[in-house]
Amino acid sequence: MRKTLQSLVKTAAFLPFTIGASVAQDFDSVEMKVHPVAGNVSYIEGMGGNIGLFAGADGVFLIDDQYAPLTEKIVAAVRTVSAEPIRFLVNTHMHPDHTGGNENFGKMGTMIFGHDNVRSQMGVADYKEAPPLVTFSDDMSFHINGETVHVFKTPNAHTNGDVFVRFAGSNVVHTGDVYRTTSYPYVDVANGGSFLGTIKAYDLLIEVSDAATKIVPGHGVISNVGEVRAFRDMMLVIRDRTAAAIRNGMTLEQAQGAGLTAEYDERWESGRPIGSSAKLLEAAYADMAQ
Ligand SMILES: [Zn+2]
Repeated sequence: MRKTLQSLVKTAAFLPFTIGASVAQDFDSVEMKVHPVAGNVSYIEGMGGNIGLFAGADGVFLIDDQYAPLTEKIVAAVRTVSAEPIRFLVNTHMHPDHTGGNENFGKMGTMIFGHDNVRSQMGVADYKEAPPLVTFSDDMSFHINGETVHVFKTPNAHTNGDVFVRFAGSNVVHTGDVYRTTSYPYVDVANGGSFLGTIKAYDLLIEVSDAATKIVPGHGVISNVGEVRAFRDMMLVIRDRTAAAIRNGMTLEQAQGAGLTAEYDERWESGRPIGSSAKLLEAAYADMAQ
């Protein structure tokens, strides 16, 4: 438990509340909700990133695992859908609200996969969470439960190790935090994320989706390609306005105060650093200002 609390303090930015004596109690009060998506694919909503859940005769396949103190509740939620062993788990990226359960699941015998950069960047950032044991450079496929699950790297977007997970038969894509329906995109520049790469990643998501595809975001609710297209188009507007601000000699601080995202703020401003307009413009400057 001490180790868990240390890692929580280290990663406080990813928690939606202030760290304090109430942490354990807050985890106690978290409820896991299983939302059916399509076919045998569901997602589990708890605290942290949405967990993808794909169950069948070959075993349970999970995407991300929230925080360590929630593992028991996550397993209980899985057991409402399947009694099969939890064999495979993919980390969509490095952040602790997606990798916090790795150590617990590893001890249970679950094989954990992630992009090479998830493992290496968790080391660079000195995270206490356990990194994936099996890593890959570009993509990999799982042939389980009657369908192909394709896990593939996106351009550097939210971090430098993001993947999309596409269930070909069920027509579902889990996007990790590259896409969220709760706020502006969060580009973690310190961990290799990129504003322009985020736009490219949306282009890729649109390319692999059709009108019927169910898109499970890292945070938020089930979405679709039309909503992703609108989100991408918003990013193009913000990109062009930021480029103009840079050309006109505006500093980042001036750009952040210039209302460049004004008409989108009511819908997408998170009101905290992650998912804010100010942070998004900072990432845009990091890519475009010389
Ligand atoms: Zn994240």
